[in-house]
Amino acid sequence: MSSIAIRLAEVDSRIRSAEQHYNRPPGSVQLLAVSKTRPAADIREALAAGQHRFGESYLQEALEKIGQLRDLQIEWHFIGRIQSNKTRDIAENFQWVHSLESHKHARRLNEQRPRKLAPLNICLQIQVDTEDTKGGITPDQARNLIAEFKELPRLRLCGLMTLPAPVQGVENQRIAFHRLRLLRDQLKSPESSLETLSMGMTGDLEAAVAEGATIVRVGTAIFGPRNPKGEHGR
Ligand SMILES: *Cc1c(COP(=O)(O)O)cnc(C)c1O
Repeated sequence: MSSIAIRLAEVDSRIRSAEQHYNRPPGSVQLLAVSKTRPAADIREALAAGQHRFGESYLQEALEKIGQLRDLQIEWHFIGRIQSNKTRDIAENFQWVHSLESHKHARRLNEQRPRKLAPLNICLQIQVDTEDTKGGITPDQARNLIAEFKELPRLRLCGLMTLPAPVQGVENQRIAFHRLRLLRDQLKSPESSLETLSMGMTGDLEAAVAEGATIVRVGTAIFGPRNPKGEHGR
């Protein structure tokens, strides 16, 4: 087995143990492999090991890899900051966006989503703790944005995402994830059940599973540490 295949199996077993430990139904947590800064060859390796969902944060880099891997069955998730002049590329190339933060971007993605593709799956990125400098909207802003979705038929509102500031210890890590789940319970409605909770990364996925994550976004534990110079912004 390749080292990526071995690490994927380890991450999978962390997720399954956490599901069991916290009484989550088996298989209720999906793994999104975060491949930002990684070459297409690493994605091919993960794909060969059975991983089909990949998350990217930097659009230009993502588009290059999507082009190189066009022939393969991959579900692409955009998890980075959205820039207004880049929404068309997102609408045309991804199946999911986890990081929606504005009405303006919602309307643009809706207009630009090609008719021949299924509606674009969306999570709203929420800021659940005040030290969090990594973006996200407030609960009130989320409530207003959700109300717009009935006019956005090319988008499918799936749920909420958060990227809390890193803290040590499962109990401390659970606080932010717990807040996201409570917010979801407050905001859900018959029109939109907000089933998806996109939360948890390499360092805190167990805490996220404990609090109801349905998608964990894991990079380092699968692909190894990133070169910080390769990261811009996030
Ligand atoms: C980079 C990134 C991740 C993955 O983080 P790791 O700690 O490497 O697992 C998850 N979510 C977002 C939004 C990211 O930018």
